[in-house]
Amino acid sequence: MGCIVLSDELLNKAVKLHGHLGPFLVLGLRMSLKARELLGDKPEKCVLETLNCKPYLCTADGIRTVYEECTVEVQKRDGLAATFVDSSGKSATISVKSSLIERYIKAPWEKCEECAYEVMRSHDSQLFE
Ligand SMILES: [Zn+2]
Repeated sequence: MGCIVLSDELLNKAVKLHGHLGPFLVLGLRMSLKARELLGDKPEKCVLETLNCKPYLCTADGIRTVYEECTVEVQKRDGLAATFVDSSGKSATISVKSSLIERYIKAPWEKCEECAYEVMRSHDSQLFE
């Protein structure tokens, strides 16, 4: 199974699906790519634990962009974490650092794209717990 990289093509696909570019959309992409790395397989299901409103839900479209066949279920909870499960039942949970969530929630709308590129450039260790 080849590894998927966060290419411009993938980013463009996400923006087309979602309608705009923002940090939470890119976090969804990054979480999905990390899940693939941890599972070594395509997930079948994803439980996204976060608040049931924007911009948290932008993350769900990021996940749907990478895994079109994956069912994304939202469970209401503070923070931003996703548990990906593959066909064999193996799972991987990825949590976004709360300091990062706070920072992007507070960012003004005009900084949205700038924040998105920042997420793209960040290392996994800067994004996830
Ligand atoms: Zn959005």
